[in-house]
Amino acid sequence: MRVAVIGTGYVGLVAGACLAETGNDVICVDIDAERITRLKRGEIPIYEPGLKDIVQRNTTQNRLTFTTDTVDAVRKSLVIFMAVQTPMDEDGSADLKHLLDAAETVASGINGYKVIVDKSTVPVGTAVKVKETIARHTDQPFDVVSNPEFLKEGAAVDDFMKPDRVVIGCESQQAEAVIKDLYSPFVRTGHPMITMKVASAELTKYAANAILATRISFINEMACLCEKVGADIAEVRHGIGTDSRIGAAFLFPGMGFGGSCFPKDLRALIHTASVNGLDLKVVKAAVEANEQQKQFIPARLREHFNDDLKNRRVAVWGLAFKANTDDMRESSVLDVINFLLDGGARITAYDPQAIENARRIYGDRIGYTGDSFSALEDAEALVVATEWNEFRHPDFNRMLNLMASPVIFDGRKLFDPTRMRELGFRYYGVGRA
Ligand code: NAD
Repeated sequence: MRVAVIGTGYVGLVAGACLAETGNDVICVDIDAERITRLKRGEIPIYEPGLKDIVQRNTTQNRLTFTTDTVDAVRKSLVIFMAVQTPMDEDGSADLKHLLDAAETVASGINGYKVIVDKSTVPVGTAVKVKETIARHTDQPFDVVSNPEFLKEGAAVDDFMKPDRVVIGCESQQAEAVIKDLYSPFVRTGHPMITMKVASAELTKYAANAILATRISFINEMACLCEKVGADIAEVRHGIGTDSRIGAAFLFPGMGFGGSCFPKDLRALIHTASVNGLDLKVVKAAVEANEQQKQFIPARLREHFNDDLKNRRVAVWGLAFKANTDDMRESSVLDVINFLLDGGARITAYDPQAIENARRIYGDRIGYTGDSFSALEDAEALVVATEWNEFRHPDFNRMLNLMASPVIFDGRKLFDPTRMRELGFRYYGVGRA
């Protein structure tokens, strides 16, 4: 099938590459000319495990191409995926500017029946807006389908190739048949393609993110309570997670959720509800609890250094909002770094993939190292902010030798508190006294 994907970010590039992998001819489009030039050169502008191989393989076989020419890509395609960003607007709603701008350009390329697919996360009613926008510019036939994406950054290729389910919001049999045909290679293990009303599909994505984020806020609250009452959150998590009604996934305490999706999507959901006269108390509480959790490490740093951070040398392991990505959007480590910088601390940071992005944010206001141990030289404290595998079993003796004082703030609960204390570290963790 001939497919165009508008937007080559974390979702668009993965979707385009995976759709090419199953034999489709895919044209990936972006308005960012530099990004397209890099992609044409074989450079992958984001870090996502497995993505480079799949892009290279499909580019070599001419199934995957890159362009800035949306109109031409639309003319050549039957299905057009819209995968542009939908960031948070000032009032908390999803800003649809990029999507509707893209829809206008797409309209100019329509030269026969097309299926336009909203892949971006968008509030209920957006498919109608996209349809109206396109219809203002063309008399050609087309359908708009809502097909929200559930991939996780860090495991995006795997998630796209083997989705738990494919949600298709569609009110046209012709479009439904096209989309089901396109996705059939991805659900051969029996995972469902769920067709539903467009509004339901649009809301499903937000509801999914809201319940996941709520689980994180819930377990973070329990972790804080554990510390107060002498319980261990790992034991409590095991105790509740083995209940089949609850399950163990997505119950890891930490420094608060971040990333490009949960924070903005929860706020957009709250906004949608509020314009419809509803107050989403549970979702609001999840956001509020998260704001509090993001202050967990700063509060402990303040306490440890008696509110005097001036010239303190602090190492930070991990900048990405989670492991296996270079994405720092809304990363909770930003709150920690900003707090340390405000207090006058000197930061040396290491991340296996996110340093380029950190440089864009902080420039030379913080130092960077090419490996985790160099960041520890003369450090008076280490903050562990991302759960990269390489941080899980470091050489603790080497760490003790390198650090000026062996103090660890473990925002990801990677280390065992008892062992750390036995080794001689002053250890601040999450969820265990
Ligand atoms: P992104 O910011 O990484 O990428 C968006 C890309 O779209 C950019 O490269 C941008 O230049 C391009 N773009 C913007 N306007 C354009 C236009 N008019 N024509 C062509 N290209 C244009 O965004 P992302 O993280 O891939 O997210 C895309 C959407 O998918 C968002 O709605 C997001 O909420 C949703 N989503 C993201 C994830 C995730 O994990 N990142 C997961 C599921 C859903």
